[in-house]
Amino acid sequence: MTAIRPATVAVHAGNQPDAATGAVAAPIHLATTFRHGAAGERLAGYEYQREGNPTNDRLREALAALEGGATACTFASGMAAMTTVLECLPNGARLLVPDDCYTGLRMLCAEFLPERGIRPVSVDMTDLDAVRAACAEPVAMLWIETPSNPLMQVADIAALAQLGHAHGATVVVDNTFATPLLQRPLALGADIVMHSTTKYFGGHSDVLGGALVFAHDDAFAQKVAHRLHVTGAVLAPFSAWLILRGCRSLGARMAMHCANARKVADFLAAHPAIERVNWPGLASHPGHAVAARQMRDFGGMLSIQLRGGRAAALAMASKLQVFTNATSLGGCESLIEHRASVEGANPRSPQDLLRISVGLEDADDLVADLAQALG
Ligand SMILES: *Cc1c(COP(=O)(O)O)cnc(C)c1O
Repeated sequence: MTAIRPATVAVHAGNQPDAATGAVAAPIHLATTFRHGAAGERLAGYEYQREGNPTNDRLREALAALEGGATACTFASGMAAMTTVLECLPNGARLLVPDDCYTGLRMLCAEFLPERGIRPVSVDMTDLDAVRAACAEPVAMLWIETPSNPLMQVADIAALAQLGHAHGATVVVDNTFATPLLQRPLALGADIVMHSTTKYFGGHSDVLGGALVFAHDDAFAQKVAHRLHVTGAVLAPFSAWLILRGCRSLGARMAMHCANARKVADFLAAHPAIERVNWPGLASHPGHAVAARQMRDFGGMLSIQLRGGRAAALAMASKLQVFTNATSLGGCESLIEHRASVEGANPRSPQDLLRISVGLEDADDLVADLAQALG
């Protein structure tokens, strides 16, 4: 049987019954070391936990199958995945990054990458002419995040991959917000997909992890894997098991996150206190057409901008009862956050903006809570 639809792959990939016992649920292998032959022969393929372990391999198999990649690496966090792939760029490399992106990437670009002479250039990834112009000088890597954090901008993965490849760049997509259930960047031409598996994969706000999935098991993929195994930002087996467990319900959860987000977005878009709803599923969103082309559905993340500015945003966030004020996303519970307040000394997010991770509660309760908070 070839399972072709993503929800089926999510349930079955890397989930073959345990060979020794027939257990249908994957065992957690906590061993740090594996018996080897007298001359160091790997008897069952494993040697030392930092080099790999069976629980982690099941997750790697599931991630590669879901993204349609040749191989995958898992990491202790999304930032460890991001850092490790960026560390594999040569000194002095030029890197194009989205001007709206995850804060951690922005911090790497501002504080750490320049120490090695890496030159990050921030561009509007929704503007192909701007990206083309930025490609006039050599580009080693083109980094895409779509939908982006927190403005929910949509970048055209296929067009950007083509442009990046024409200039010899490796094209990476942070697919954390969409997940492979909604968007498969490798099929659209990207070389590498990055995930914070802390978010939708884990799905329950209780495990930190990251991943890279590679279109080809080439020299660069092997360099990243080698670097991971030597530098050691590996995923713990129990964390791998939790993420694998989350993977099984990813299809069902994403469907409900998307359906709930639509109800929340429709309600907010019609509310007089709201200036703007940033959710790619709305026909009014500037990236809607591209999102409709490259995504199966529009995801559970959105941001809103309030007519009353910062004060109105903080007032709304403080009145919600079903939504929790907290960072992160992708869990069962709905979260809301005034991003500018948590971005440190020089916040980039608009002061009137709240970011929302729409959870798995009954959508009517979410809408009622938003209605009472907006008063
Ligand atoms: C959370 C997140 C990351 C970082 O992942 P961690 O697991 O927190 O290290 C990277 N990119 C995006 C889009 C994220 O939401």
